[in-house]
This record gives sequence, structure tokens and C-alpha cells, in this order.
Amino acid sequence: MPIAWPYIAAVGGGVALSHLILLLILLFRQRQERSRKISLAYLGVALLWGIAVTLADLQAVFLPIVTDTADMLIPVFATGMTVALAALFCAYMELPILSILATAGGTWGGILFVAALVLRFHPLPAIPFLEVTLGGWCLLSLLLIVLAIVGWRRSHLALTRNRVLYWLMAFIPLLGGQAASLQPIGPLRGLGPVLHLIGAVPLVHGVLSMWLPNVKASLRSILRFLLLAGVTAAFLTGIVWGAETLNERLPRSVPRVTLVWVLASVVALVYLPLYRLLERLVNRLMRGVGFDPAQALRDYSQTIGTLLDLEQLATVAIGTAAEVLGIRQGALLVATETERGGLLLQPVPGLGDVPGESLELEPISPVLSRLREQTGPLFQYEVEHHPVLREAATREREWLRALGMEIFLPIRSQDGLIGLLAFGPQKGGEPYEPPAVEFMMTMANQTAVALQNARLFEGLQALNARITRLNETLRTAYERLEKMDRAKTDFLTIASHELRTPLTQVRGYVDVLRDLAESGTLSNEQVQRISANIDRPARRLENIINAMLDASRIETEGLDLHFVPTSLSLTMRLAIEPWSAALEERNIILTTEGLESIPAIQADIERLCQAFSNLISNAIKFTPDGGRIIIRAQPLDDDHFEVTITDTGIGISRADLDLIFEKFYRAGSISLHSSGEYKFKGAGPGLGLPIARGVIEGHGGCIWAESEGYDERRCPGSTFHVVLPYRAHRGPCRWQRPSTG
Ligand code: ADP
Repeated sequence: MPIAWPYIAAVGGGVALSHLILLLILLFRQRQERSRKISLAYLGVALLWGIAVTLADLQAVFLPIVTDTADMLIPVFATGMTVALAALFCAYMELPILSILATAGGTWGGILFVAALVLRFHPLPAIPFLEVTLGGWCLLSLLLIVLAIVGWRRSHLALTRNRVLYWLMAFIPLLGGQAASLQPIGPLRGLGPVLHLIGAVPLVHGVLSMWLPNVKASLRSILRFLLLAGVTAAFLTGIVWGAETLNERLPRSVPRVTLVWVLASVVALVYLPLYRLLERLVNRLMRGVGFDPAQALRDYSQTIGTLLDLEQLATVAIGTAAEVLGIRQGALLVATETERGGLLLQPVPGLGDVPGESLELEPISPVLSRLREQTGPLFQYEVEHHPVLREAATREREWLRALGMEIFLPIRSQDGLIGLLAFGPQKGGEPYEPPAVEFMMTMANQTAVALQNARLFEGLQALNARITRLNETLRTAYERLEKMDRAKTDFLTIASHELRTPLTQVRGYVDVLRDLAESGTLSNEQVQRISANIDRPARRLENIINAMLDASRIETEGLDLHFVPTSLSLTMRLAIEPWSAALEERNIILTTEGLESIPAIQADIERLCQAFSNLISNAIKFTPDGGRIIIRAQPLDDDHFEVTITDTGIGISRADLDLIFEKFYRAGSISLHSSGEYKFKGAGPGLGLPIARGVIEGHGGCIWAESEGYDERRCPGSTFHVVLPYRAHRGPCRWQRPSTG
């Protein structure tokens, strides 16, 4: 029987009005998100579609030109709606095919719309318009389902999965309503818009609100209710059926009132306990996340009261939550305010695979503001989908995502935010229900004191370690100072010896000269011999005094150097030449390598010669007779070259490698001192190396010594490295010395 047109008009009008209200609600919301715009478009098309369905059914009221046109447009609008629905889902899940889908779907919808209008007035039976349109709609609906499955698989957060499930639930009446409208004219088609409205309400709610009901839990409740209702119905049916049978079988003499009374008592006695038992059974069968937080919280607060170690605290906190809530991953994030006003988060893993890198939240980070301003938990879902939190720096969002957590619970003390308890997803992958969140919040509150204690303890430990380190540095500095002090004291002895020896020689020869002169036996030849003997100690005296002056000048104003073009080989030849007699006497072989490979240099030739000469004299002095000295030169980079002077001498202990460059410092004991210039182990006043360093550094170079150690028997030798720029310059050395590990 055809439905009367006033009913059709009333239902159609009502549904259209409801769609319009939904559209207006969406329109007057402030948020300008992409998903809101797409859903506006969706509802707009849905409104037209609902009107078309109603008009098409009102054949008794309108002319065929209206009803037939509306009829042709129904599948076109349905296509447009499915395209918009798929685009909405892609936008929300950030699936990369959104723009392709919107362009292709929009074009397809446009073509269908124009074709429908053209074919309406110029029918072409050869074109199967309806079949093509319906086929397209079916494919699009299938695509939507596939997209929902892909979205489900891509989302790793329980709350995001819940949203996908929510959309899926809404898709059923939405697509069902569209499918109904594609049926031939009749009551089922008229129901299409009504069914669609049932899906449109949750759709709008889903677009506008961040928080959606837990779909799985709601489905479980519905199922539980249906199960209990079904079993109760079966029980009551059994009772009624039993009553009827008894009524027939029992003799008439038994009063029926008694029968009713007995049955009522049986039901009253059995029903309630039976129902409870049943309820418990059903609950166990369909258990969500059930737990007893009270005992767990008591145990937790007792255990953490004695903990002073951050790692242990994290393990106990996350372990407790894992036991109670069945989580698989969690960490304690220790929070420290930074000087810039940001917050440094350092993860301390408690369970599962937690990345160890820390993150500094920017002072203007929306995540930080959210954590500071609101006392409640922060969900990772919010970080990914909340329009404000999505504005956080990519670095922050990626770090949070990489942690793989579901929820963050702030731990606060009087000083503000001191940490976060971070928990991963539950084993079943369901969103945390309010009781679970409440439990975690209580845990976070209880953790505050323990965390503060653990941090204080850690701070103390760090302080302790620092004091130990400082002590060590102080001891080394003290030892160094002590050595330097000894060197200075030794210097007085050495200097007096160094100065007195040549002076005594000079005075001795002067006395001889005077005696000879007084006795009148002084020959020319004698004068020459004696003056040569006076000249040697006098020059030695001059050298020592010059060295002292140089050393003190290096320390005060620095050497006055004049850089001129020269060559390394010439400088080295001048430095070696004065030692040829000594080398011969001590039977030491000195060889050079690669000097010629160094291109022209700019240097103070006299001073550089002095520096190398000091190094060569040391090599001779600390190498036993018959030893070897090798001088090598090699380019290092475009601006620097290196000279090494290696000997087969007694070596230098590691502790002395730096100290020997200090003024007056000598590695051996004072008893080794000799005023001879090249006697084996004949240490001088301890000025040769400080002067060499002053000269090399004055050229913008650097110098250091290497040796396996001091051993007079084995003679491990020493190597002095000198790095110089081709063009000498003032200021520090620009060459980076490779670390020796
Ligand atoms: P000195 O006048 O004592 O030679 P230096 O400053 O030239 O003063 O050297 C300081 C100390 O460094 C020397 O006394 C010696 O102990 C050590 N030293 C320097 N060169 C060598 C070397 N080639 N082999 C071993 N020890 C060396």
C-alpha cells in the first residue's frame, strides 16, 4: 500500500531540517580545520540528497519533471557523499591520498551531475547511466571500508583506534541510508534519510569533539545487557511454561493460589542469586580491564618510600602499573627546568624498549604549557590530534611519538613539575578507562616525594663525584707546584754553579796572566793561549745569562721576532753545525729526512735556529754514546709542516712530558747537573725547552714531547714534535693536534 504523501513530506521535511541543524552547528564552530570543512560539504550534499529522496517519493504532489529529476539525482548525490566521507576519513587519519581522492571524486561527481541533467531531458537509452552511477557508488563504499581498515592498522594509539572504530560504527547507518535511497521507490527508500540521520549525529559529534566514548567498552556493555536480558527472558519463559504444565498436571484439589505462591517464592529465592551468578559469569567472559587498585597502591607507596635510585623507582612504578593494568611499556621522565625557561625531559626506562635520548621542551612549547597549566594527564592522542598541541615543534612531537607512550601523568612538588610517569598501551590495546586513569594519577601523586628524594640523592652523588674529581685536580696541581718549587730551589744551586764555574775559570786564568806578567816571562804565545782559555768560559757565561734573559722575556713581553723568507733546510743546517764536534766526540749519528720537501718559509731564522739547536743539544745530552738522532720534516696541511727530532736516549717519564717545558724544570735529580755542554745526562739550568717553546709559539706553532718513559737501561728514546706554519704569525697555533687517545 503506497504511503500517503503528507507522511512522506513530514518525515522528509523533518529529516532535512535535522540535517540542516547539524550543518549549522558545524558552521558556527570556531575551529577552521580541514575535517570540519569537508564534513560541512558532506552535510550540504546530504541535505540535497535527503530533499531529492523526499521529492522523488512525492509523485502525488509534484509534476514528473520534478520527481523524475530528483530520482535521477539521488545516486549522484549519494556518490558525492561517499567521496566526501572518504576524504573526511583521509583528512583525519592524515592518509596521503586525500588530494588525489578529492580531485578524482569531485570530477567524477561533477560529470555525473551534468550527465544526469542532460540525460533527464535528452534520454539516451544506449547509456546505462544508473548502472554506471551505482557501480561507482559501490566501489567508493568499498574504498571507504578499505581506508578504514588501513587507518586502523596505521594507528598505534588506543584512542586513535577507538576513533577509527567510532567512524566505522557511524559509517554503517550512513552508508546503509545511502544504500536504502538507491532502492526502487517504496517504504525502504523513504527510510534512507532517517537511517542516515542516525549516522550523521555521531559523525558531527566525532568531528567536533576530541574525546569520544570507548566504542569497544560500549559494545561490550550492550552485549552484556542483551545477554543478561536474553538469559533472564529464557528463565522467566521456563517458569511460565513450568507453571502452565503444573497447572494442567496437578489435581484440581490443590488450590491455585498455593501454586502461584509456591512458584513466586521459588522465583524470588532463586532469581536474584542466579542473576548475580550469571552476571559474574558474563562479566568474567567479557572482561575488559578489571583490577583492584587499592592493594596495589598501598604496596606501591610502601615500596617507593625507601627507594633512592631513579632507575629502581622507574622499575617499581612501571612494574606496578604493568601488573595492575597490563601495560607493556613505560618510563619515568625526569623533568628539570632549564635556564631558558624550558623543560628538560630525561627518560629513565622502567619497562620495554624506551629510547634514552632526552628532550628540551621549548619555553613556548604548547605541550609544556599544557603540562604546566593543567593538572590532569596528557594523552599522546592529544599531541597528535589536538589543534593546539599539533602546533608543537616537529622535534618535540617526533620525540614524544618515538617514546611509544599512550599517556603522561605529571608528577608535581612544591617546586612545580618534577617529572612524568609515562605509560604505553594496555595489552588489549583498549583506551584507558577513567578508573585506570584515576589509579595512574594517584600513583603519580605518590611518586612525587620519592622522586624528589631520588633526585636529591642523585644530586648529592654527583656533587660527591665532583668533589672527588676536584680533589684529584687539586692534588695534581699541588704536585705540579711542588715540583716547580723544587725546580726553582734547584735552580739556585744550578745557577750558582753554572755561573760560578766559568767565572772561577776566568779568574784562574786572569791570576795566571798576572803572575806571568809580574815575573816578566809572558810570551806572545802564552797570551794567546790564556786569552783563548778565558774566552771559552766567558762565552759560556754570556750564553747562560742570555738564556736567562730570553726565558724571562718570553714570560713578560714575549720575544721580539722578525719574520723573513728563509728555508727549513738552511735553518736546520745552522742549528746542527755547532754540534758537529760534540756528535763526533760522543759517536752519535745524526741524520735528516725530508727537509728539502718543505717549501720556503717565513720565520725569524736566528730564533728558530736557537730553538732547534736547544732540541738537538738535549738529544745529544740524553742519548748514550753511539746512539742515533733523526730529524724528519713533513708537510701536514696547506698551511703547516712538522719537524720531529727523535733520539735513542734515556727517554722521559710520562709525568714529566709537559713539565719539562716549564722554566727551570729538569726531569732528573740535581746530582745529574753538569756545566758541560754535551756530556751524557748533563742537564743544564732547565731553560732550553722553555725558550724553544717560546720561539715556536711565537711563530704561531706548537711543540710537544712523546716518549715511552724514562729508562736508562733500555733507552726507549724521545721524540720532540714541532708544528710550524709556513708563514709565521702571531697568536695561537691554528693547527689542531690530533688526540692521542
Ligand atoms: P736543560 O738545560 O736541563 O737541558 P731543558 O729545558 O732543555 O733544560 O730540558 C729540561 C729537561 O728535560 C732536561 O733536564 C731533561 O731532564 C729533559 N729532557 C729534555 N730533552 C730530553 C731528551 N731528548 N731526552 C731525555 N730527556 C730530555
